[in-house]
Amino acid sequence: VKILAIESSCDETSAAVIVDGQVKSNIIANQTVHEQYGGVVPELASRAHQEHIVPVVDAALKKAGVAKGELSAIAFTQSPGLIGSLLVGACFAKAMALALDIPLIGVHHMQAHVLANFIEDPKPSFPMLCLTVSGGHTQIVQVNSALDMKVIGETLDDAAGEAFDKTAKILGLPYPGGPLIDKYAQQGDPTRFKFPEPQIQGLDFSFSGLKTAILYFVQQQEKAQPGFLQENMADICASIQHRIITILMNKLVKATKETGIKEVAIAGGVSANSGLRKALTEYGEKHGWNTYIPKFEYCTDNAGMIAMTAHFKYEAAAFTDLTAIPSARAEFAS
Ligand code: ATP
Ligand code: MG
Ligand code: FE
Repeated sequence: VKILAIESSCDETSAAVIVDGQVKSNIIANQTVHEQYGGVVPELASRAHQEHIVPVVDAALKKAGVAKGELSAIAFTQSPGLIGSLLVGACFAKAMALALDIPLIGVHHMQAHVLANFIEDPKPSFPMLCLTVSGGHTQIVQVNSALDMKVIGETLDDAAGEAFDKTAKILGLPYPGGPLIDKYAQQGDPTRFKFPEPQIQGLDFSFSGLKTAILYFVQQQEKAQPGFLQENMADICASIQHRIITILMNKLVKATKETGIKEVAIAGGVSANSGLRKALTEYGEKHGWNTYIPKFEYCTDNAGMIAMTAHFKYEAAAFTDLTAIPSARAEFAS
């Protein structure tokens, strides 16, 4: 079974080919046009997808050594995401499925982030928990099988990725700031500054209070001592990152206790964070979990994870009608 998968939910145009459950190629075109605006501009993202999609698909097929005529199905990201971006991938996938007369498979982007953990060995066994931390979502997902998962905790306001990006902006760092905070944090002291931990019931998260606390902290320190921010950038970044990670990990510990599940994974763009990757491994050793982290290229948006999800859906004959439309928001499909 050979499936071509397309991801275009936000600002990465990506195509991947999966052959009998093995991802053979994963081509990603990043869009640099948004940097000057300090965030993704939806209108520009759609246009860039339109420009990139043909060469990206061609490159993915070529790298996998698969001809169009050999494909068994075409998969695409159906939801959630920016609607104009999703439409580019959806239209392209539909046209190709129609032309080749093969099935279409619509994929839920957040389900795909979770299933990125199944691209390479060792693979988790079911049931498992996944902490999905990305630019738009922060979720603890209970995964009973590849296509049966439910959100048991999520953010009430900002996503973890937004917490990184918005605080980076306060620190004067360019967008997206997450990877930069990570970089500075590696030289800094995570215990130097103490930022508050929100008191939220259950397994839900909140990050907006932290953002405000950091804003006031930076303003006050700069006022008292101009240049404070520049001189202490590494310690500030390390302290912020440490707080975001402890907020995430404390809830994850709680979820493992409540569910009794010890197969624990992370996924999404923020799972590229070196501190979070290290923390998951350390907590795993301490609490007796088996832990899983996708390879870097499968953490941020990529079509490899869409292809992996499509593989499971193909096996279950969960195909999508050509009349299906993408949507900006959607619950998990099952
Ligand atoms: P969603 O998946 O919720 O629709 P998205 O697709 O935009 O959102 P991803 O591409 O999965 O999100 O992740 C992007 C986010 O990951 C950004 O907020 C970015 O700052 C963050 N990120 C990427 N690398 C790192 C890192 N090393 N440390 C912290 N954050 C990071
Ligand atoms: Mg992105
Ligand atoms: Fe994503």
